[in-house]
Amino acid sequence: MTTYRSFIGGKWIDSTSGRTVPNVNPANRNDIIGTAQLCTRDEARSAVEAAYNAFKGWKNTPAPVRGRIVAKMARLMGEHKEELAQILTREEGKTIAESRGEVQRATNVVEFCAGESRRLTGETIPSELPANFAYTIKEPHGVVALITPWNFPVAIPAWKLAPALVAGNTVVFKPASNTPGTAVRLTELFIEAGIPEGVLNLVLGSGSEAGDEIVNHPAVRAISFTGSTETGLRLYEQIARRGIPFQAEMGGKNPVVVLEDCDMDLAVEHTAQGAFGSTGQRCTATSRAVVMDTIADKFVEKIVARAKSFTLGDGSDAANEIGPSVDESQFNTVLKYIDIGREDGATLLCGGKKAAGDGLENGYFVEPTVFDHVTPDMRIAREEIFGPVLSVLRVKDFDEAMTVANDCEYGLSSSVFSNDANDIYRFIDEIESGMTHVNSPTTGGEAHIPFGGIKSTGIGAREQGSTSLDFYTELKVVYVDYTGRKREGNLY
Ligand code: NAP
Repeated sequence: MTTYRSFIGGKWIDSTSGRTVPNVNPANRNDIIGTAQLCTRDEARSAVEAAYNAFKGWKNTPAPVRGRIVAKMARLMGEHKEELAQILTREEGKTIAESRGEVQRATNVVEFCAGESRRLTGETIPSELPANFAYTIKEPHGVVALITPWNFPVAIPAWKLAPALVAGNTVVFKPASNTPGTAVRLTELFIEAGIPEGVLNLVLGSGSEAGDEIVNHPAVRAISFTGSTETGLRLYEQIARRGIPFQAEMGGKNPVVVLEDCDMDLAVEHTAQGAFGSTGQRCTATSRAVVMDTIADKFVEKIVARAKSFTLGDGSDAANEIGPSVDESQFNTVLKYIDIGREDGATLLCGGKKAAGDGLENGYFVEPTVFDHVTPDMRIAREEIFGPVLSVLRVKDFDEAMTVANDCEYGLSSSVFSNDANDIYRFIDEIESGMTHVNSPTTGGEAHIPFGGIKSTGIGAREQGSTSLDFYTELKVVYVDYTGRKREGNLY
């Protein structure tokens, strides 16, 4: 059994807290993968101090040299793809195909950011004064805290670590408590890639203690968070008092809008993949299907058949298509929402309970679940469930579809199924989400394309792609006067 430790100031440390949490395989509770030592507040503080002490040296390291280390990290991730995918499946539960996809996406992002190290350019701006010019420089903030969730424990740390480091920041990385294995392995690979002492610090510990200590430490100059809206907004309040930059990607309640002229089989398949793939534990998962009344019976019949056709089981067996909920708490949350759906009067068409069968008894498996006749006021239409549960909302026309799709506090992703160009472009104009898809699932994204949401989903600069370094850099504006004379006239 592995012991997971924190990495602070270039050393793996044994925590003095004496507190540990087991890393449990959610497909089989009897498989205890390892034990994570939880940091004390003092140890979390020492991680910030180590990052603070390393900042000057890292900032003064030329960006392309920093980029070379990040490029080596991308190569190492490629070489260790299968190993990372196996760790990911065992501790988080997603299927091995999904894990391989996540590791590949993470590797692509790291590779992309390494290239950005040669493009940390500013602007030169002609002055309105003779013999003067102005230019801008991109500079790192200093120590940045990166707080990440369990559902993409390779990709999300990667898409924060790579741009933060390329930009010249030093990092305190606090992963979710239930995915320490992937966090430790990523850190080990960064060490192998040559990251200098103190530049990257990994803190294993609870959010309420170690996390709280990190985000409130005055030496932390920017915080990038991905997780629930509840935690993110709480952190935003605390951080606002200190006036430092905050970036947050939070919950989702992503709709598909299924119009009359769609390719029905395509709409059903992509809705099912979006709703039940990764056990519904993607921030971009499809959780609402807004369907035209005239085609709703057909849609519902087909989506139920598809939901029942998935094979559930341990994700390490490539034959299984859907893994478990990540832990007991998430499993209970999903079952609780299924009860709420029933109590609120939605029609349960399939699923709705713990999955039974060979190999499922010791895991947190929930049957893919479809509710019909869900109305916009019901909690299962409004709140993030984060499990394999789809709510079907029937509407009479396009206008009602848009009203229903937008009647939600979140705004991460969405998609439309239609073959009518006018309706598709109206949808793109009117949908309130940071990302939208046409005739494809609400899920997915590419390393070189910005990612993120609006409304209660996203705060601050977008992650990934052309915007990936925006959050991690400050702009310094420089005015150069080469007249050698006292300036005449008005100065503004
Ligand atoms: P969470 O409970 O909010 O936790 C996220 C991270 O915050 C964890 O590392 C957690 O540590 C830490 N944390 C909790 N309280 C803290 C505090 N007071 N100070 C500092 N850190 C604190 O979210 P989760 O359950 O891990 O992740 C699922 C959520 O993430 C879903 O809502 C999902 O939609 C969202 N998500 C959004 C995106 C996106 O791009 N929009 C992507 C992926 C996931 P502990 O684990 O120790 O509690």
